[in-house]
Amino acid sequence: MRRTARAIINHDALVHNFNRVKQLAPKSRAMAVIKADAYGHGMVQTAKTLQQADGFAVACLKEALLLREAEVQQPITVFQGFHSAEELQQAIKYQLRPVIYQPHQIELLEQNAQGELSVWFKVDTGMGRLGFRPEEVNEYWPRLERCQSVRQTGLMSHFANADQPQHNSNQQQIDRFQQLLGQLKIETSLSNSAAIIAFPDIQGDWVRPGIMLYGSSPIINRSAEELGLQPVMRLESEIIAINHLKKGDAVGYGSEWLCPEDMAVAVVAIGYGDGYPRHAASGTPVAVNQQRTQLIGRVSMDMITIDLRNTEQVKVGDTVELWGEQVSIDEVAASSETIAYELLCKAAGCRQL
Ligand SMILES: *Cc1c(COP(=O)(O)O)cnc(C)c1O
Repeated sequence: MRRTARAIINHDALVHNFNRVKQLAPKSRAMAVIKADAYGHGMVQTAKTLQQADGFAVACLKEALLLREAEVQQPITVFQGFHSAEELQQAIKYQLRPVIYQPHQIELLEQNAQGELSVWFKVDTGMGRLGFRPEEVNEYWPRLERCQSVRQTGLMSHFANADQPQHNSNQQQIDRFQQLLGQLKIETSLSNSAAIIAFPDIQGDWVRPGIMLYGSSPIINRSAEELGLQPVMRLESEIIAINHLKKGDAVGYGSEWLCPEDMAVAVVAIGYGDGYPRHAASGTPVAVNQQRTQLIGRVSMDMITIDLRNTEQVKVGDTVELWGEQVSIDEVAASSETIAYELLCKAAGCRQL
């Protein structure tokens, strides 16, 4: 028996969104970011669907090895690189492209005598997470360049605030990156989804789209629809009960929501155990039989309650969309104090295998 809650993946929409990336960054190659099980959409399946991708990017070596096992042939960038001599050997054997951001990784490359690989040298231009600091580049860049096993090096960095294009750290990061790049004739990669859209002039050789491939808007206050992106995941479940409550009756844990009038309330088989956010507030949109209505009361582990006022002909067994074509995941994220990235990752368990 399958669970009632299900996440359905629209592979055509995924391809559409990838093509949208290519339209927005026509001169760049695009590595589709498929870490975290392709943001909950299924890593291998997503890679197979995006045959036309110029490359892929994952967080860790283990993910990259799964892709090679599945015979994915494109270049694969590994954001967290390698951490030991054995992992470096695997990166070489499977022709992965690790990101180098720690002196220890350069030491491992210096000690390695076997094989060749391409790498990314990551600089921290202001994100404060992974990367050599600008003042360290003079020391570590030449050492990396001298490594016998390094065939090709690219320069990579990552934005902290590209989702707010007006944020003043963005230009500072761009300036630092360009200063470090100087006259080097090497490949560059700087842009995540938000930057692809917000800073078209600095797309560089490789763009790194993640969230936009999955149809969520990477930019605050702009909708996915206006950016030409299509939702890829539809999260849905079914109504398992319809209750006719009286004015003043309470709904759910904490008795927080009180019926303002006599009304019908439906119970839907999905909750935070399935990845629907527990913090979704009353008023979060849902859709039943193509009609938008709202969540009311607190989210339980495997049930929610929804308002059936202003809906017609709803019965037990009907399908409810939590996000997808009728309810944008960005709306749900906004009323749940989170971001679409987290919602998508957490719904991975609802995917139909
Ligand atoms: C996750 C990630 C991306 C993709 O970011 P989106 O905002 O999902 O487009 C790009 N680059 C790096 C280094 C990342 O970790």
